[in-house]
Amino acid sequence: MHDLIILGAGPAGLTAGIYAARGGLDAVIIEPKAVGGQAALTAEIENYPGFANVNGFELVSAMQSQCEALGVTFVYDAPTKLSLSGDVKRVTTAYSGVLEAKAVILATGALPRTLGLPRESELMGAGVSYCATCDGAFFRGRPVAVVGGGNTAVEDALYLERFASEVHLIHRRDALRADAILAERVKASGVHIVWDSVVTELVGSPKLSSVTLKNVKTGELSSLAVNGLFVAVGQKPATEGIEGVELDGGYIVTDEEMRTAIPGVFAAGDVRKKTLRQIVTATADGAVAAESAIKYLGSV
Ligand code: NAP
Repeated sequence: MHDLIILGAGPAGLTAGIYAARGGLDAVIIEPKAVGGQAALTAEIENYPGFANVNGFELVSAMQSQCEALGVTFVYDAPTKLSLSGDVKRVTTAYSGVLEAKAVILATGALPRTLGLPRESELMGAGVSYCATCDGAFFRGRPVAVVGGGNTAVEDALYLERFASEVHLIHRRDALRADAILAERVKASGVHIVWDSVVTELVGSPKLSSVTLKNVKTGELSSLAVNGLFVAVGQKPATEGIEGVELDGGYIVTDEEMRTAIPGVFAAGDVRKKTLRQIVTATADGAVAAESAIKYLGSV
């Protein structure tokens, strides 16, 4: 049996691993996808203190190396069943059997939201994407659009300018939600912002060739020829299969020590209910959660 299982190898989980290992715990991180979570898919990070501009993959790779050097075990597998309520926590995985520990940190992060349009899932990989860093280069010399007005949408639009022949940013309001520095940058860029508009239809077969837009103020419909549509309309917490914790708007509720409603179960990072979701707040959560797990294990 391990001391601690950490679910998720994003910045929160990796930082929890570093602090747990330095605190003397035998910690295992379970990750079903690639290490680094959403941070690993960010081309340029400009607000992680100490780094004016760092590639997300490089940053999380450094965190992973730090974990490995400290003896944290990584299991690359999908949890299929969680049993968190007893003194012994059990995580059943698809291929690596059942892992047991005395404490668990839930650092499963968040997943991109979809637009919920007909044919959206059919056109995934055929023009519709949720990751500009992963798929942007496929649209070299072609017109693309990004939907959303937050930090992700603006960063994606600016990133896509490197490849695409034209980039449109479609936002449902007349003001961006993104941080002022990013909003100013995109307004000064070559990105064409389509204000007060939503996508109502995805057109093209077998690949996307255009989208239908509706101006929400006038009701007017128009067609925009694009081969790529990058959806960046926010995230939803990755809490599938997690039971017994308190949720608020789908996010896991914790106290300041990252304790959930279940003794010995902590939550950290984007999956937690909080006001600011950033890499720096995820790493801070991970550190606090690991320290709380260390305290908890010393008391049971
Ligand atoms: P977000 O901040 O929640 O923004 C989502 C955007 O999508 C909003 O502009 C929203 O419009 C729009 N939207 C939501 N549902 C929509 C729909 N159905 N149709 C059309 N538009 C829709 O999400 P995010 O940009 O992914 O960021 C998530 C979190 O990560 C935030 O806390 C963000 O600050 C953080 N983040 C930070 C950085 C950075 O610091 N550099 C980079 C990336 C992400 P409204 O504005 O009208 O609500």
